[in-house]
Amino acid sequence: MDKMIEECCICGGQDFKLIFRETKKISGGTYVFNNVICMYCGLIFINPRVGIFHHADYYKHKGIFHLEGEKGRFHKINLNRIEFINKYKNRFKKHTLLDVGCSSGEFLTIANQFGWEVEGIEVTDFYNSSLQRKGFVVYNQPLKFLPKHKRYSLIAYCAVLEHLENPIEEMQSACDHLTEDGLLFIEVPNAEFPTDYFYTPEHIFNYTIPSMDNLLAKVGMEIKEVNENTRGKYVLQVLAKKSSRKRPVSKISAQYLESLIKSSEKNSADQNQMKEKIICRLETIFEKNKGKSIFLYGAGQHANDLLGLHPRTLDRIEGFFDSDPKSIDKTLFGKPIYHKTNLREISPDVIIISSFAFEDEIYNNLKEIYDIDKVFKLYEN
Ligand SMILES: [Zn+2]
Repeated sequence: MDKMIEECCICGGQDFKLIFRETKKISGGTYVFNNVICMYCGLIFINPRVGIFHHADYYKHKGIFHLEGEKGRFHKINLNRIEFINKYKNRFKKHTLLDVGCSSGEFLTIANQFGWEVEGIEVTDFYNSSLQRKGFVVYNQPLKFLPKHKRYSLIAYCAVLEHLENPIEEMQSACDHLTEDGLLFIEVPNAEFPTDYFYTPEHIFNYTIPSMDNLLAKVGMEIKEVNENTRGKYVLQVLAKKSSRKRPVSKISAQYLESLIKSSEKNSADQNQMKEKIICRLETIFEKNKGKSIFLYGAGQHANDLLGLHPRTLDRIEGFFDSDPKSIDKTLFGKPIYHKTNLREISPDVIIISSFAFEDEIYNNLKEIYDIDKVFKLYEN
């Protein structure tokens, strides 16, 4: 199942250095994944490729993000994206936009409100059919299968490109489906500033500005602008256009390479420290609440990771709460998942928030609907 990558897909280099190793338990299996850096062009990627995460079917039946849940935050994120894109709105004759990996369609909706004629691509069946019911044109297949004549002024990849196993083929298709004056919008986590939970097995490639630029050079495109006004340095947003001339792939400077390796090593050490803290925090909560009913809030990827990190948690919890209607009436590791509107009725003694990125937001949300002294954070962001 695992596939060793011998050559860097961008520069053809064969000299890689291991910068991050992680073992994860997901859906009952244990997976080791290594992130390596290409010593010529600086591309960071998982090597060897780990079977289940790296084929399209992995996403077919599961949306991995809970975009329909806490709307406030995603609304802001999408506004930030569209503001950056709209700086160039006047350059286009037509305003057609394709969102690749459009998930539950929040970005599509906002872009549409800002005057774009929108279409989406989404291979996850659940989101695809719900968007089609809402009247959106959404294709259930990768971009390369769209008819050649379909052209867009803007093609967007919002937190999608890092999940795709053949970025050159994907960017080539994007370039082919852009109008001559068209722009590509790409948002990825910034590998120059890795944070906790930055490296996950789903992120097959981890990009920096230089490696993004090299990827674009391979398909005859170039960065037009890097957004300086994102939600922090951890997010990399670029707009790219077709190049007028062919550009070679650039070699990364020794200094920059060293700084990338250093920041990854620091991230690795920080993450180990964080894991120890989380285990300790869980043990304290369990110890102080013996005999009480304990639930996790959040039944997504984070809960999976948490139960992998500390399996004893599963023995101590009675179930999960979640805001995503998709998870309700299902089970996770044999425990029930309830919707947050059932909180009062079930009345748990303790709720532990199982989310890193949305911990504060969930906490504030629970404050309004439940007794906040029964709610525990794991990270205290
Ligand atoms: Zn390379």
